[in-house]
Amino acid sequence: MKVVYPGSFDPVTNGHIDIIKRAAGLFEEVVVCVLVNSKKNYLFNMEERIEMLEELLYDYDNVKVCMYSGLLIDFVEKNKIDSIIRGIRAISDYESELQFAQMNKFYSRTNVETIFMVAEPEMSYLSSSIVKEIASFNGDVSRLVPKNVEIKIKQKFK
Ligand code: ADP
Repeated sequence: MKVVYPGSFDPVTNGHIDIIKRAAGLFEEVVVCVLVNSKKNYLFNMEERIEMLEELLYDYDNVKVCMYSGLLIDFVEKNKIDSIIRGIRAISDYESELQFAQMNKFYSRTNVETIFMVAEPEMSYLSSSIVKEIASFNGDVSRLVPKNVEIKIKQKFK
């Protein structure tokens, strides 16, 4: 089964990496797709976000990183993806994720399924936004993100 794990990854956190590694153990091919969301203001540009992910996932032969500017469902159909993976941290994620999954199913010609993977409890409080907030006040994010991300985020707020 070929799956896509879509998101902003601004920046990628240990929570995202945990989901990607678990998915790589379950599925034949995992495509990590960095999406462009016109409503969001990003800290890292697309190239930076892709580069950080690629550095981290270099050793995973069945994981590929790419970008897409458009509707996720179009990416899914163009690339013959079987399922969409999303992470659920808490009930608050569930509400928006349910809407996203149902909308994708509604628009899908191939009846694409969304598969939810639950966050590890110790990662369930972790989000890219919280990492940016802590880093913006010079806080220590070393336990929240991989080393390469920690270095890059420190440079951003220097
Ligand atoms: P988006 O902009 O689509 O919310 P994110 O990059 O924030 O993208 O997240 C991508 C996916 O990863 C979403 O399904 C989100 O719920 C999930 N996710 C984010 N943080 C974590 C975490 N700490 N543990 C597990 N899943 C997570």
